[in-house]
Amino acid sequence: QTYLSTKQVKDLYIYVGQKVIEAKPTLTEIDSAIGDGDHGIGMEVGFNKAIQQLNEIEVEDINTIYKEIGKAMISNMGGASGVLFGTFFVASVKNKPVIDRLTLATFAHLVQSGLEGVQARGKAKVGDKTMIDALAPAVDALNTAVEQNKDLVEALQVACEQAELGLEQTKQLVAKFGRAKSLGERAIGHQDAGATTISIMFKSIFDYVSN
Ligand code: ADP
Ligand code: MG
Ligand code: MG
Repeated sequence: QTYLSTKQVKDLYIYVGQKVIEAKPTLTEIDSAIGDGDHGIGMEVGFNKAIQQLNEIEVEDINTIYKEIGKAMISNMGGASGVLFGTFFVASVKNKPVIDRLTLATFAHLVQSGLEGVQARGKAKVGDKTMIDALAPAVDALNTAVEQNKDLVEALQVACEQAELGLEQTKQLVAKFGRAKSLGERAIGHQDAGATTISIMFKSIFDYVSN
């Protein structure tokens, strides 16, 4: 498979949403250790609204899918991650021409724009113990895969591995943003909640496309 159709991308994000929702207990536990414990609830609310919306509207192109997911998150989730995950999806397709098939190159381009949007909004960089620590390495992996002419599934596998590696590395970091910032060194040993969600998203994208 070299690309996903609009219909497949819609199904993909419904699947991704379900997987993130299933991980609610894990996300709650992680955010309880070094945050306020609401990250799992927030992601559940956001993806439930997004899924509901995707099922209600006529999805004509891939741009609409990303935009609707982002809007659902921004309007319903609350918290830092409502804005940041919402911005990720909205920024992915902002000022893009109509996309009706998702190739690896297009996906890499969208995720790159999404990352830039989150960084413009939240100011966090790699090493600050946020979602960026999982997202940025996944984006790098996708861009490298495009340059190397890798196929979609292979590229998603590497992106997924890099996101997970980035997530693992958050355990060793002190937080520069978010609620864990006030904990200083006490955050060491705990992984970041938002980076966990990013890793779950990439893993479920890989699962969906490889099955
Ligand atoms: P809140 O902290 O408002 O309760 P959540 O618990 O839903 O929001 O989300 C926390 C996650 O948001 C963190 O684990 C981190 O990954 C992410 N985050 C917080 N601030 C930033 C930021 N400035 N840039 C990127 N990600 C951030
Ligand atoms: Mg929280
Ligand atoms: Mg909160």
